[in-house]
Amino acid sequence: MNILLFVAGLLGLFYAIARHRIPLRNLALITGLFLAVFTLMGGFSFVWGLLVWSLFLVPSILFGVDQIRREFLSEPLLRRISRVLPQMSETERAAIEAGNVWWEAELFRGSPDWRKLKDYAMPTLSEEEEAFVDGPVEELCGMIDDWDITHRRQDLPPEVWDYMKRHLFFGMIIPKKYGGLEFSAHAHSCVVTKLSARSISAGVTVMVPNSLGPAELLLHYGTDAQKDHYLPRLADGREIPCFALTGPDAGSDASAIPDTGVVCMGQHEGREVLGLRLNWEKRYITLGPVATVLGLAFKVYDPDGLLGDEPDLGITCALIPVDTPGITIGRRHFPLNAAFQNGPNSGKDVFIPLDYIIGGQQNIGRGWRMLVESLSAGRGISLPAVGASAGKAAARTTGAYAHVRKQFNTSIGRFEGVEEALARIGGLTYMMEAGRLLTLAALDAGEKPSVVTAILKYYNTEWMRQVVNDAMDVHGGRGICMGPTNYLARAYQTLPVGITVEGANILTRSMIIFGQGAIRCHPYLMREMQAAGEQDPVQAENQFDKALTGHASYFVQNLVRSLVFSLSGSHLAKSPVKGRTAQYYRRLAQMSAAFAAVSDLTLMLLGGAFKRKEKLSGRFADALSYMFFTSAILKKFEDDGRPKADLPVVEWSAKYSLYQVQLALDEILRNFPVKSLGLLIRGMVFPLGLSLRYPNDSLGHRVAAMMLKPGEARDRLTKGLFVSFDPQDVTGKLEDALVKVIAAEPIEKRLRSQQQLKPDLMDYADWLDQLVADDVISVEEQQSLLAARQATRDVINVDEFNPGEMASGNLTMDQVA
Ligand SMILES: Cc1cc2nc3c(=O)[nH]c(=O)nc-3n(C[C@H](O)[C@H](O)[C@H](O)COP(=O)(O)OP(=O)(O)OC[C@H]3O[C@@H](n4cnc5c(N)ncnc54)[C@H](O)[C@@H]3O)c2cc1C
Repeated sequence: MNILLFVAGLLGLFYAIARHRIPLRNLALITGLFLAVFTLMGGFSFVWGLLVWSLFLVPSILFGVDQIRREFLSEPLLRRISRVLPQMSETERAAIEAGNVWWEAELFRGSPDWRKLKDYAMPTLSEEEEAFVDGPVEELCGMIDDWDITHRRQDLPPEVWDYMKRHLFFGMIIPKKYGGLEFSAHAHSCVVTKLSARSISAGVTVMVPNSLGPAELLLHYGTDAQKDHYLPRLADGREIPCFALTGPDAGSDASAIPDTGVVCMGQHEGREVLGLRLNWEKRYITLGPVATVLGLAFKVYDPDGLLGDEPDLGITCALIPVDTPGITIGRRHFPLNAAFQNGPNSGKDVFIPLDYIIGGQQNIGRGWRMLVESLSAGRGISLPAVGASAGKAAARTTGAYAHVRKQFNTSIGRFEGVEEALARIGGLTYMMEAGRLLTLAALDAGEKPSVVTAILKYYNTEWMRQVVNDAMDVHGGRGICMGPTNYLARAYQTLPVGITVEGANILTRSMIIFGQGAIRCHPYLMREMQAAGEQDPVQAENQFDKALTGHASYFVQNLVRSLVFSLSGSHLAKSPVKGRTAQYYRRLAQMSAAFAAVSDLTLMLLGGAFKRKEKLSGRFADALSYMFFTSAILKKFEDDGRPKADLPVVEWSAKYSLYQVQLALDEILRNFPVKSLGLLIRGMVFPLGLSLRYPNDSLGHRVAAMMLKPGEARDRLTKGLFVSFDPQDVTGKLEDALVKVIAAEPIEKRLRSQQQLKPDLMDYADWLDQLVADDVISVEEQQSLLAARQATRDVINVDEFNPGEMASGNLTMDQVA
């Protein structure tokens, strides 16, 4: 009885901690009071009393009595941290300081405030933006023939370049006063989504001038003269920009560029001026071969002290017309058969005046900061849009194909094995879209959440790889044989480009997401690091002690919340909604508390050594990212008005994401640097074992079924795509066939039930004639069956070529057999 009372009291206490963030001091007082009452009531035997009181008193005194805490905890810890704290380089500091934190910090800290999530305004298109997406973008999509672009020309046709320039596709981020479209990040993303599903080469061509590059840098850092000169010319395509950072010796470690600019006097437009003598070698530069103006990153040196005392001035960005003497540019790389322009460039003793530097002389050495600040927003727009677009295209085409294509007299989409792939395509597409929208909500509200944009860039490009692979599998040989009617193969080929650029994915997952997230989102870590770096010892001690007290309280609360939520099957966590999705909010709250406790413990244990633990960091990145996507899924469902038809895909995605969070945390604890501690914490975080499950088969079946036929949920899942019903169009023929096949199915079913089977040796059309003559089917029904048969044939046909043309490597569309 006593023990029961004790446990009930303790659980009540834990519950209070779980629901409210009680300060550590109050917590100790309440617990002490509770123990005292219990002891006075004779609730403990002597041994139990001794044990319980020791467990309570030792940490309470250690943390609660200022003198003792300072002497035995804060000061020794501060000394140790100051000794081992790795020095942060200037480039690391710039990366950490670029952008800000947003919703991910709520998830990181273990107690997400659902009101905030609900209140984020989901992005919408203005009338003008919508008219652009439905007008010029739609028209451009109709003009595009990706096979012609990628195979025959290896470039966009002149009329497509011209159309893009005339309709200001290259000026989406440029303000109207400079002649641009001044679109929101959401509109920019919608344009890229629609276009790149049609042709990745066209999508990338539009995306590059609108993301990290000359226009973006000029807008934020350019002088008025630079803006007035370049922005109108960039907006209407008179100038084609590129931005060159990467070179043979500096890829992921871009801050290590060996390219130099030496301050010197030189000739410019017939006058002797102060400037820079540049030498560089760059590669992989998108739009480089056709660029007219080159954005260049290099390191500035001033050995003769022409600008001051500092000889090594740091990374700097300049805009240089490509016809400047000494520049070699124009040759092309061949990135996985994609046709967007990409190539190397180099410069030998190229002299530029100082006013070519973006922002002028005052911005010498500020280049790295400028780049990471721009990247912290930009990487959340273009590539994530390409990922979501690939998901939508895969969902729409693969669902239709899996219905139309029949084997064993059944649509292949009805086989359980294919259903698994379809469900993954549907679920991951929903997640990519939800993540895209939530991130755009932040960007269009003026936030620069660099951890969120890294999460989105990583996952939307990784899931693009997954969904396109799944789509290829479901299409079988139809996806493999290349030619003008293959709508999948170019995406399949090109997807590693998205994986590699704007922060290569392995690096982004294993270094950036959690590495930056931990420092930026943790409420105490940065303060402790700053205290450790403080010169004045008294200040350092005071600051550190304050941060440490808060930190201890934060850790205990998260651990207890996690334990209570887990023991109660998350029923004690709050949900802001009722109905089927409430459970996912509660589970997410549970996972968030567990994540906060486990990540905190890991950081405390490893300190600066964590930097080298990329496997652990990668798993934390997974856990944080999947929590972000779970919240995005739930928000999208609410913002869409809770459509019932979407519930299967919403639940599949939410279950899948939460399961992945649990998996990542479990893997972290199993690979914990101190094994026994890992097991102990695992027991507290998952006291009842791993209770979250992968989405079950029946849920997967419902997601797949939704994708196999036209309907509101399928349309919502693939919203924003260019959809054609024209049987002559590369994907239009699928939509056309789907409608015709569905129309014919009841007739086929009736014939089967009447045992009307086509004789093996009889032609299909002749057999239908016979059925009409026998009054088994009407003429309309005959037409419907014939139309479905023909449309199916058009869909399952693959391209074929004459052997001679194959050998010549010049398979033009007219030469298709
Ligand atoms: C088609 C294409 C277009 C591009 N466009 C441009 C452009 O317009 N302008 C421009 O400046 N650059 C551009 N790039 C360059 C691109 O940004 C780089 O390719 C990218 O930064 C990676 O560099 P790398 O290819 O040299 O790979 P490496 O740096 O050699 O990396 C190879 C692998 O190692 C991993 N890795 C490296 N360091 C770490 C680490 N510490 N921890 C874990 N993993 C690590 C990477 O994730 C990657 O998987 C483009 C590249 C391509 C292919």
